[in-house]
Amino acid sequence: MTDRKERTFNNGNPYHGSDKVSNSHLVGATDTDYFYFFCPECKGSQILQILDYTIAFDEPVEYAPAFRVKAKRDFKIAFELFCPECGLHDYVNIANIGWQGGLLANSPSME
Ligand SMILES: [Zn+2]
Repeated sequence: MTDRKERTFNNGNPYHGSDKVSNSHLVGATDTDYFYFFCPECKGSQILQILDYTIAFDEPVEYAPAFRVKAKRDFKIAFELFCPECGLHDYVNIANIGWQGGLLANSPSME
């Protein structure tokens, strides 16, 4: 059995989401309790494949603990995405640090 923490993500190269997935261009939905990302380049709800992931960090709560009293961990997970229809290949992160509430339009990164 492979030790998942031993393997490399993106062959050890840097990974960043492009403008195609930034600033609300990447959206998705659930069917049951599974979440799917939709390709920002294809029309409709073309689902992106998740080729790989990495846990960029998983640590005790240090980020804004007074504001996040119920948080159990600080974490960030990166996903490598691929569209089998148009060939889009990109990355997205899901984390529980940084922007934590309010309106997305008010996020400093949306300005
Ligand atoms: Zn596509």
